[in-house]
Amino acid sequence: MRVLYSRNTWIDGKANVTAKQEGKMANIIGKTISELRLLLERKELTAVEIAEAHLKHIGSSEPELNCFNSVTEELAMRQAELVDALVADGKQLPALAGIPVALKDNICLANYPTTCSSKILENFVPPYHATVTERLLAAGAVIVGKTNMDEFAMGSSTENSAFKKTKNPWNTATVPGGSSGGSAASVAAGSSVVALGSDTGGSIRQPASFCGVAGFKPTYGVVSRFGLVAFASSLDQIGALGRNVEDVALTLSVIAGHDHRDSTSYNQALPDFKAEISKPVKGLRIGLIQELTGEGIDDEVNAAIQESAKVLRDLGAIVEEVSMPYLKHALPVYYLIATAEASANLARFDGVRYGYRDAQSTDILNMYFKTRQAGFGPEVKLRIMLGTYALSTGYYDAYYKKAQQVRRLIKNEFDQQFANYDLLISPTSPSVAFEAGAKTDDPLTMYLSDIATIPANLAGIPGISINCGSGRNGLPIGLQILGPALGDAIVLRLARSFQAATDFHNMRPEGFLPMTTSK
Ligand code: GLN
Repeated sequence: MRVLYSRNTWIDGKANVTAKQEGKMANIIGKTISELRLLLERKELTAVEIAEAHLKHIGSSEPELNCFNSVTEELAMRQAELVDALVADGKQLPALAGIPVALKDNICLANYPTTCSSKILENFVPPYHATVTERLLAAGAVIVGKTNMDEFAMGSSTENSAFKKTKNPWNTATVPGGSSGGSAASVAAGSSVVALGSDTGGSIRQPASFCGVAGFKPTYGVVSRFGLVAFASSLDQIGALGRNVEDVALTLSVIAGHDHRDSTSYNQALPDFKAEISKPVKGLRIGLIQELTGEGIDDEVNAAIQESAKVLRDLGAIVEEVSMPYLKHALPVYYLIATAEASANLARFDGVRYGYRDAQSTDILNMYFKTRQAGFGPEVKLRIMLGTYALSTGYYDAYYKKAQQVRRLIKNEFDQQFANYDLLISPTSPSVAFEAGAKTDDPLTMYLSDIATIPANLAGIPGISINCGSGRNGLPIGLQILGPALGDAIVLRLARSFQAATDFHNMRPEGFLPMTTSK
């Protein structure tokens, strides 16, 4: 095993790029899957050139953005060469042939570190691939690196990483959102074409919103969790972030589908997501969730959502306000269930089986204590303590069990709405990206960033965030679209129609991408 680029070593960036290469790179960086595929098929570009351009782009943007924990250059180049061999042989190219993809650093890539941005897993190298990784590689994807995240996916700003803080390419004084902040920022800055993230309470959708890209959390069970380091197993789901909805749908069709290694994996045929998204949206009934469009949501965000509702009406959809009173309980319910499951899941990191171990201790109990004391960061410890408390004898019924009961009421409320409406919409986040450090001392305000995204995880339903406007200082605003369980295709369809009718997804942060638009 050879890891070419560890967290702190970077490929030479701009310095090595000649003017001619700069020109070619401008033609590669910021393109969508279908655009790159066309260039590959027409032999105007090779997969090696695409990979090299992205690796160089990572090299030059990384010092400013910190999207990646590690860059897998050797693997990327090997895979790109395989794709070029297929092109040379005139073979049919698989769905993601030659497409640079970034993986959140809680998704296993065999023989490369999977750190969860935690000290406790700093040196953990999985001997196996996650199912999604296997499927990406089989589809010809070129994995360029592992992205930074909040430690164990706990957070909303990527400031809880034990290693580095990722910056938002739209304004480097602001956070990219979290916990999949590295994935979202890398897509926004063009250092990957698509990226995978995980979403337990909004960690794909909220950073997608902050970074102005599309981010989709599938129905629970649609994408295998095998090889995803567990945070809260009944809520976790892997999904994709991309520049537009087509790219997300195509990536989803590669990673979705039954997996016998995940007992919660959905075991029926799934629709062809890419084909489904082109169907019309005329006549679709859409509920605008009142409780997520009033108090506590910034005016500029509310205004953009009202404008989006108009766009959807112009497309022939029927948009009406709906009320979901139980949603106000979603946040406390989530912070009981997610922490309870996390306290159980993270018990395995004890210094015996994985990663970091305190070397000084002479007895096993002290070794456990010291390993966990030094290995976990403050937010992770806080969550383990909350979860252990909620599960302990005497409190279990009052907290954990009660939370599960209210979770059911929230799920029922969604079911009732979906009896009358095809889809629901809301803002993704109460505000645009906030300044780095603004919420780090106040966990409750930080937790409130996920007020609109958490309900979908509690109910197991699919949701997407797409860019729908700009707020303060030109920062992106996210529109969230939620659908019924297994309604993934219809969520993507509405999102694609919105993008076909508007230009928000073509807005780009200055300074990282060529400023051309592509539809
Ligand atoms: N921000 C939420 C939390 O901190 C959600 C995280 C996630 O979806 N992984 O738990």
